[in-house]
Amino acid sequence: MKDILTAPFMVEMIRTATNMYDHGWDERNGGNISLMLSEAEVKEYLDTDAVIRAIPIGFSAPELEGKYFLVTGTGKYFKNVQYAPEVNLGVVRLADGGKTAELLWGYADGGKFTSEFPAHMMSHVARLAVDADNRVVMHCHPANLLAMTYVHSLDEREFTRTLWQMCTECIVVFPDGVNVLPWMLCGTNEIGEATAEKMATARLVVWSQHGIYGAGKDLDETFGLIETAEKAAEIYMKIAHLPIVQSITDDQMHQLEAHFGVKAREGYLD
Ligand SMILES: [Zn+2]
Repeated sequence: MKDILTAPFMVEMIRTATNMYDHGWDERNGGNISLMLSEAEVKEYLDTDAVIRAIPIGFSAPELEGKYFLVTGTGKYFKNVQYAPEVNLGVVRLADGGKTAELLWGYADGGKFTSEFPAHMMSHVARLAVDADNRVVMHCHPANLLAMTYVHSLDEREFTRTLWQMCTECIVVFPDGVNVLPWMLCGTNEIGEATAEKMATARLVVWSQHGIYGAGKDLDETFGLIETAEKAAEIYMKIAHLPIVQSITDDQMHQLEAHFGVKAREGYLD
């Protein structure tokens, strides 16, 4: 059996969590990541019959029965992931109709997965329904996107259009736009269900006055998605209080669509 700390998925997870912390997106125990793994890649590093303990999830995700996830731990700090991955991360398999998580590795101090596990699992189900290649759900607190939810309309079309107008490449990176939830109590099944519903139509879901959820095929893509939206929000927060002399027009957006072969969300461009 190979050392799991050398597994490409583990190395990439540790680098991503560290990078997110370094970007200032994950203060204290803020943020969480879940990465779906294939049974074949897990078996290279772990005995999948050796369950350390079974952890009740508090909801059921029957669609994910038997699926494996590498997940950040509850109450854990992203800044510490690189120094003690086996304490701050865990590998779990969903069992019992998706009501239980079987721990196969990690959470070595007796911990468990992020308190946002319901939102993550429901979001995986929602994204897999529209994209069979989706593997990652990521949550963090980027300052400018968060700031925007205090001063900008939360209308999804308006919010998306503003971000698209802030950097030329935004519409190319997230043509599906950004969905927005109003303030809701976090850590609940309710916000999980609301997030998953929003994930059906976009890979980015803003939690007003809290942060953002991103989903994608791999850690790099998902990180890049949030990074691009956050850059756009940063430009917005730099210019929102200034007179706007020019911007990117809808005609120019259509040129970007044609040139890069992307299709903007229906009805979002004039
Ligand atoms: Zn959060």
